[in-house]
Amino acid sequence: MKTERLYYNDPYLLEFEAMVLDVRPIGDSFGVILDRTAFYPTSGGQPNDLGTINDVRLLDCFEDETSGVVIHVVSDRIPSGLARGRIDSSRRTDHMQQHSGQHVLSQAFVELFNWPTTSFHLGAVACTIDLPVDSISREQATKAEDLANRIVQENRVATVRYLAEEDLAGAGLRKPTERTGEIRVIDIAGYDRSACGGTHVRATGEIGPILITGIERAKKQTRVEFICGNRVVRYAREANRTLERISQTVSAPALETANAVHALWEEHQQARKRLQELEAELLDHEAAQFPIRDGFAIAAFRNRGIDAVKLLALKICARPSTVVFFADESEGQLRVVFARSADCSVDVSTVLKKTLDHFGGRGGGRPNLAQGGGLTADRAETVLKFAAENCSGGL
Ligand SMILES: [Zn+2]
Repeated sequence: MKTERLYYNDPYLLEFEAMVLDVRPIGDSFGVILDRTAFYPTSGGQPNDLGTINDVRLLDCFEDETSGVVIHVVSDRIPSGLARGRIDSSRRTDHMQQHSGQHVLSQAFVELFNWPTTSFHLGAVACTIDLPVDSISREQATKAEDLANRIVQENRVATVRYLAEEDLAGAGLRKPTERTGEIRVIDIAGYDRSACGGTHVRATGEIGPILITGIERAKKQTRVEFICGNRVVRYAREANRTLERISQTVSAPALETANAVHALWEEHQQARKRLQELEAELLDHEAAQFPIRDGFAIAAFRNRGIDAVKLLALKICARPSTVVFFADESEGQLRVVFARSADCSVDVSTVLKKTLDHFGGRGGGRPNLAQGGGLTADRAETVLKFAAENCSGGL
């Protein structure tokens, strides 16, 4: 037996009584079947309602498509007999605003550009519709947004009507439906007519403002992200607070912060470039001055980072007849870099292998440059001393 849908004819009904027909375990929860329900089950891009049945929290609500039965998933068992359902009103209102807003926005794209909506998703943060076009310009989106908001401000009446399947052809639906039998149609006076099972407002004014928040290409389609009603107010409030903070940081009026932030960014890029140049100069200087004894440059660094240590080793090896044994301890890890000048015959990868065999760790490299990490030693100096002592083959 199909569950009677009370929300079909009265989406403003937030409390109702119904007979419990069946309660069956679903995992740790229970699936309740009622003879009638005001809870909207997930379908048609719109998520389910929440609320309580006999003060037991509703966790999920979905329909069994083959039987037409609505399953109410609750956290606790519900006794048989009469039950009282209460719908979470702010969630219901939000869904009504988003879904009705979608009908208005979808029709705006049809009316202006003849772009039908191919799919709709009502998300927790934002909603999306997909349009079968490669791209949409900002101007086109703004036009559709303006038309949609005009329809909202005209406060057009939205009604629910039921049509027989055979009467659909001449009914002027925005999009053909695959449903059969009696078809529920949402009619926005003189503007849009769509087959839909969702919960909708009775007049477009209740939708509140409609705002497009993003346009994104997706698989030869264009995805339009939007929000309606109270979500727009919350978004504007958050955006305003964010702008205020940026405005204070960059000392510019809120609506001029984009230029100020861009100028700061360019300044930052230049400063970073200059910093890199200075670091390179400093490194050249350090490499030129680095003490070399009997052809060996040996040093243990702390928290310098293995990449910086390696760069210094390579610069030092630009000098002739030099072998470099460097270690770095950063973030509790002991790493080593061994390198040598092009005119040396020492194979530092062999020295590294011996060192890793002795102290553990992993690594590898070529005869002129090798690198390892994860060595276990009390002091980095012990590792370096071992490497120097095991460096056979001469310089
Ligand atoms: Zn709909």
